Amino acid sequence: MRKKDFPIFETYNGAYLDTAATAQRAAPVIEAMAGFMTTMNAPIHRGLYPLAEQATAAFEGVRKSVAEFIGVQDQNEVVFTRNTTEALNVMSQSFAELYLGEGDEILVTRMEHHANFVPWLEMTRRTGATLVIAELTEDGRLDMDDFKKKLTPKTKFVGVVHVSNVLGTVNPITEIGALLRDHDAFYLVDAAQSVAHIPIDVKEIGCDALVFSGHKLYGPTGSGVLWAKMELLEAIPPFMTGGHMIDTVTDTEATWGPIPRKFEAGSPDSISIIGLGAALEYVRGIGWDTLMEHEQQLVASALDQFSELASVKVYGPSEKDHSGVIAFSIEGIHPHDVASLLAEEGVALRAGHHCAQPLHRSLGVPATARISFGVYSDDEDLDRFFTALKDRVLPLAQ
Ligand code: PMP
Repeated sequence: MRKKDFPIFETYNGAYLDTAATAQRAAPVIEAMAGFMTTMNAPIHRGLYPLAEQATAAFEGVRKSVAEFIGVQDQNEVVFTRNTTEALNVMSQSFAELYLGEGDEILVTRMEHHANFVPWLEMTRRTGATLVIAELTEDGRLDMDDFKKKLTPKTKFVGVVHVSNVLGTVNPITEIGALLRDHDAFYLVDAAQSVAHIPIDVKEIGCDALVFSGHKLYGPTGSGVLWAKMELLEAIPPFMTGGHMIDTVTDTEATWGPIPRKFEAGSPDSISIIGLGAALEYVRGIGWDTLMEHEQQLVASALDQFSELASVKVYGPSEKDHSGVIAFSIEGIHPHDVASLLAEEGVALRAGHHCAQPLHRSLGVPATARISFGVYSDDEDLDRFFTALKDRVLPLAQ
C-alpha cells in the first residue's frame, strides 16, 4: 500500500518478502539522515559550539521519541545500541556479572532468536547458571503450562520474544508480565519483530527491559535500543568502558557517568539514531489501526492461499496470534532451492534456520523458507509469490 514512501521501489521491482530480516528504508528516514549530515553534523555531547549543541539536541530528541513510542516515562532509561543483538549482550553480560551464579536459572522460550539465546547460553558457561527452555504447543504457540512449570524460585531472568521471527507467533507478553508480578525474576521482552507491527507499552506489559533494532522499523542499521528500568541500569555494571561513559578517571580508577551515559561508551552512531527518530515518526504517522489491519489482511490471505497447497507445510498458529511472518516447507525440496527458484521469478524471501536452530530442531527440520511483510507489501507481491511457487516449485515436489 505504501511503496511510494520507499525510494527503493523506484528501481527495484521484485516482490520483497523479507522484511523480517530487514525492512526497507522509508523516504523520511533517508531524508533525515542526509539532512543531518549536510546541515548538522558535529560531535554529540562534546562540543560547546552551536552546531554541536544542535546535533546533540536532535540526537537526544530521538531518545525522547523512543521513550514515548514504548510508553517509558523517563527517557534516560533508553540506551542506544547498534542493534538488538548488542542490547541483549549488554543485558546478559552485565546482568550475569551481578546476579547469576550456580543454581540460578534463566528461562527463555523454544522460539527465541539466537540473539536472545546464545548470549544466555554463554552466561551459563561463565556463571554456572542453567538455561531452561519453555516448550511450544503443536500449533507453534508458547506452552503456558510448561512455562509456568519451569518458572520457579530459582528463575532469576526471563527472556521472551514478542513475535517469533520464524513462526510469526505473537506471545502473550502481558499475561507473562502479570504472572511475574509476584516473582523476583527480571523480565525482558525481545521486540525486534514486533516494534513496527504492534503497539508497545512497557508499563502495560509489566517488563523490566525491552530491546529492538531500528532496521526492522523502516529505519537504518546501526540503531538499536535497550530500555530497562532505572534501578536495573543503576545496579548492573557497564558492558563497554572508555570515552563518554565515565564521570572521573584517575591513574588508578574510573567512576561511571549517569544513565544512559554509563552504557554508551564511545562516539555514537548519531546518523543512524537520527534515522531511527524519523522511522518512529513515520510509523506513528501511519497509525496502528491502519498498520495492523493491513498486515492482518495479508496474513489471512497468505494463510488461506497456503491452505490450498497440499504439499506445503506452514508453521505457526492459525490466523489468530499470527503476525506477518510465515515459515513453510515443501516435501522433497530444500528451502534454499525454493528461495533460489523464486529469486529467478523476482521474489525475495529468506531460507535457512533464521537464527533459530533450537526451534528448527524441535520442528524436526534443519531449515524453512519464510515470507514476511511490511507496510509496503501488497496483494500483488503475494500473487507473484504464489504464482511463482505454483509454476516453478510445486511441480518438483514429491
Ligand atoms: N530477535 C529477533 C526476534 C529477531 O528477529 C532478530 C533479527 N532477525 C534479532 C533478535 C536480532 O536483531 P539484530 O540482527 O538487528 O541484532
